Amino acid sequence: MCGIIGYIGNEDAVPIIVEGLKKLEYRGYDSAGVAVLNDGRFDVIKKKGRLAALEVEIQNTAQNATPIHGHLGIGHTRWATHGEPSNENAHPHLGNQEKIAVVHNGIIENYHTLRARLQSKGIVFQSETDSEVIPQLAEYYYEAENNLFDTVIKVASRLEGSYALGFMCVDTPDTIIAIKKDNPLIIGVSEHGNFIASDIPAVLKHTNQVYYLNDNELAVLTKEGITFYDTDKERIHKEIETITWSMESAEKGGYEHFMLKEIMEQPMILKNTLAKTLSQPPVDITRFNRIIITACGSAYNAGVVARYVFEKLCRTPVEVELASEFRYKDAIIDEKSLVILVSQSGETADTIAAMREAKAAGASTLAIVNVVGSTIAKECDYCFFTAAGPEIAVATTKAFSAQLLVLYSLAIRFAAQLNKISPAEEKSLRAELEALPDKVNALFAHTEEIQKYAASCIGYKSIFFIGRNIDYAIALEGSLKLKEISYIHSEAYAGGELKHGTIALIEENTLVVAISTCKRLEAKIMSNVEQVASRGANILSIGARHATASAVIPLPETHELFTPSLSVVVLQLFSYYVAANKGLDIDKPRNLAKSVTVE
Ligand code: GLU
Repeated sequence: MCGIIGYIGNEDAVPIIVEGLKKLEYRGYDSAGVAVLNDGRFDVIKKKGRLAALEVEIQNTAQNATPIHGHLGIGHTRWATHGEPSNENAHPHLGNQEKIAVVHNGIIENYHTLRARLQSKGIVFQSETDSEVIPQLAEYYYEAENNLFDTVIKVASRLEGSYALGFMCVDTPDTIIAIKKDNPLIIGVSEHGNFIASDIPAVLKHTNQVYYLNDNELAVLTKEGITFYDTDKERIHKEIETITWSMESAEKGGYEHFMLKEIMEQPMILKNTLAKTLSQPPVDITRFNRIIITACGSAYNAGVVARYVFEKLCRTPVEVELASEFRYKDAIIDEKSLVILVSQSGETADTIAAMREAKAAGASTLAIVNVVGSTIAKECDYCFFTAAGPEIAVATTKAFSAQLLVLYSLAIRFAAQLNKISPAEEKSLRAELEALPDKVNALFAHTEEIQKYAASCIGYKSIFFIGRNIDYAIALEGSLKLKEISYIHSEAYAGGELKHGTIALIEENTLVVAISTCKRLEAKIMSNVEQVASRGANILSIGARHATASAVIPLPETHELFTPSLSVVVLQLFSYYVAANKGLDIDKPRNLAKSVTVE
């Protein structure tokens, strides 16, 4: 994730880059850096922390030595994925010979292999990042190619994973080269120079004329102009686009709210998270006889989904506990227990306390977090990172989906270790996971339908979400999302449980959202739907079609255990549009905080 900006032109690149990075701050970051090319060498300043710290460092350099300046440069705000937030790990990164400088957004999946190969040739790495293999590999190839353009193509052909990249080379002080795959990059064209950037706001002060770079396209920027190529070195023609958004909406990628932007980012986030699961630490599940998942809010709901998945695939007993309860219950755990903690921020106070309790009782702790360097990431025994990037909207969407995916991947891994699934089953389950990003994309075809339906729901006083089994688990998340942002009272119930009490609340003009993705339970949930419909409820069906439903949002086919990854997207969009139609402050709902660091 996070921010790239590069500039080549008549003006001094340093203030333009720093200002551009500020406009990308909304994306979240933990360190920042800038490199300019001047007099045949790179001047690089990198700093952990906020951009203000980088600015101070730039000023200090100006006072104590020669100020850094140049007519081409690249800058970066980093959201650490590999290696702690630190000055060394901040970008830009240079190769050993300080000939090539690179900024990278994304994750290089095969960096271990590349790094080991380069190290065996005597190349010394300065950082812990996955990204550093890029300039090192580039300098290695440059020796033979002697040409930055060919080098970039060759480097890209060796990289697996996702990237948006900006390159500079001391031998070509009139050129910046950019290439991307699965991470965004735009090219801005202004009167005084040209830009690469992760997002429009970084360049909007200078220009509203931009090109959107597609995957595997190269942009070669000089101050006079830009040429585009494919990786076969063929020139390609691209249409320039005029941005008409305001700065504020540009930060949100043209969406009205961060929440909608984050919902729409999910296919990319799922892809990045899947890539990340390949380099997670090894855990020997055979050492444990029970699994306890503990978390708060949506992360707890991800745990409830995961319980069905772990139990079904691994046949191991799993408990799910609210972290705020777990911490005070004197849990029966020992060294044979694996306690899984789920937290977006890695700073959730209750989850931190639960982790410490678990450790004190001798259990092993495995955390699923989004923020590298966070308290939970540092203190747990095994840390699995989601690659959701910074999430700005208070109500989680993409981080939840990323947590689910990591839990799925973990369950498959454990089941294989426990010999509960065959290698062929493991392969087919993994293939199903790989297919999820495209299926989420396909679901977006229903956005308008969901929007229209949600608009008709703003008058409800109460909305119930029902499902059975794993559909019930995801109903919990649907209900929480709706409450959080629309302030409509809502509850999630296991379909079969309604008749034991809650059905008393069903009357004319109550909305019941019925999630039905499990084929084998379709008839059962159907009868629950009949029961509420006959008492006057309106029905929104997600998944299977119920005769009495006033609307149906079908889902693409997937493995029964993975359907929550699809149904949750419909639930998120539904909640979002209900709240949007009520005109509420969706990104900052009342009484809620993004990272709950108090008890
Ligand atoms: N994976 C890279 C790192 O950890 C890039 C992170 C980013 O996109 O900011 O340095």
